[in-house]
Amino acid sequence: MSNPSLLILPGDGIGPEVMAQVKRIIDWFGANRDLGFDVSEDLVGGAAYDKHGTPLHDDTMAKALEVDAVLLGAVGGPKYDDLDFSVKPERGLLRLRKEMDLFSNLRPAQCFDALADFSSLKKDIVAGLDIMIVRELTSGVYFGEPRGIIEEGNERVGINTQRYTESEIARVARSAFELARRRGNKVCSMEKANVMESGILWRDVVMEIHQAEYADVELSHMYADNGAMQLVRAPKQFDVILTDNLFGDILSDCAAMLTGSLGMLPSASLGAPAANGRPKALYEPVHGSAPDITGQGKANPIACTLSFAMALRYSFDQGDEATRLEQAVEKVLADGVRTADLMGPEDGTPVSTTGMGDAILAA
Ligand code: ATP
Ligand code: MG
Repeated sequence: MSNPSLLILPGDGIGPEVMAQVKRIIDWFGANRDLGFDVSEDLVGGAAYDKHGTPLHDDTMAKALEVDAVLLGAVGGPKYDDLDFSVKPERGLLRLRKEMDLFSNLRPAQCFDALADFSSLKKDIVAGLDIMIVRELTSGVYFGEPRGIIEEGNERVGINTQRYTESEIARVARSAFELARRRGNKVCSMEKANVMESGILWRDVVMEIHQAEYADVELSHMYADNGAMQLVRAPKQFDVILTDNLFGDILSDCAAMLTGSLGMLPSASLGAPAANGRPKALYEPVHGSAPDITGQGKANPIACTLSFAMALRYSFDQGDEATRLEQAVEKVLADGVRTADLMGPEDGTPVSTTGMGDAILAA
C-alpha cells in the first residue's frame, strides 16, 4: 500500500516558522515509528502571489484535491494589505475551503493542566477540559440569499438570510456524530429553535439522523444563548458541540479563550468522504500570520503541531500516534517549557520556536 499523502502549505508570516518544526516532527515519525508520508510542499497566500501573481495556483489547487490531507501554516501580512480583493492572500485559503467543499469545521478546546492558570476562567472550571466544537462552515446566514443593503422608503435596510437545507444539516450532523464515537460519545446540538425556522429544522434533522444512524451516541439540545452561558459556566459538561455557521463562529472563539493562547489552538476542516472513505481535510492552526512577531523566532509551534496531530487522528487513522504527539506536548508544558506567548513578563526566559520543537521531539 502506498504511503498516505500530505500537502504542506506553510504560507506567510510565522506560517513557515511553525511549519519548520512540524516538518521535523513528521520526519521523526518516519524515522522512529515507521510512519512514512508522501509529503509535498507548495505556496499559498502572499508567498504564492509573489511568485505566481495569484494566492493559489491552479496546480496547487489540483494537488490539494488529490492528497489525503492538507496542512496549512498561515496566510496574509501587511505587505499585501493594499492588494486588490481578488488576489488577497486570504482568497487562497477561501478557494481551498470552497473547492474542497469543507463544510465541517472542527475546533477543539483543550486545556492542558500546566496552562490552567492561563485561562480567563478559574482553574477548576477548565483544568482537564477537552471539548470539540463542530461548526457548519459553508452555508447559513453568511451565504444565504437574498442579501444586500436596499433602500426602503427613506432609509436603508441591511438584509441577510439564514437558510439551511436538510442535506446541509444532515451532513454536518453526521460528521459530529462520527467524531463523538471516537471521543466521549456525546453530542449537544445548539440552535435557536425557539425563535428561528432554521433552528426548528436543524433540531428535527439532527434528531432524525440520530435515531436512524447514531442512536448509540448520547444527544442533547440547547438554545445557543444558553449554550454560550454554559460554555463559560461549566464547559466540562460537553463533549462534542454541533452548531451552525453563525453560532459556531461565536461559540468557538468563546471556547478558544477558555484555554489560553492563540498559539495553542489547532483546527480541522472536513468535507465529504472521498473514494477511500476518508473525508477531504484541511488542518491549520487557529492563529494567523502574526506579523508582529514574524522572523524573531518567537512563534509558538504548538498550534500547528496539534493540527498535525488532528491529521494523524482524522485523516490517517493513527489515533495512538496522535495521542503520543499530544502527550509529548503535554509533558513539555508540564516540564515548564514555554514560548513567550505562554508566560508573563516576570516568568523567566522563554524558549524560541526551534527550542519548543527540540523539546517536543525530545519528549
Ligand atoms: P489574522 O487576520 O491572520 O487572523 P490576527 O492579527 O487576527 O491575524 P494573529 O496573526 O493570529 O491574528 O495574531 C494575533 C496575536 O496573537 C498577535 O499578537 C500574535 O503575535 C499572537 N500570536 C498568534 N499566533 C501566535 C503563535 N503561534 N505564537 C505566539 N504568538 C502568536
Ligand atoms: Mg484574526
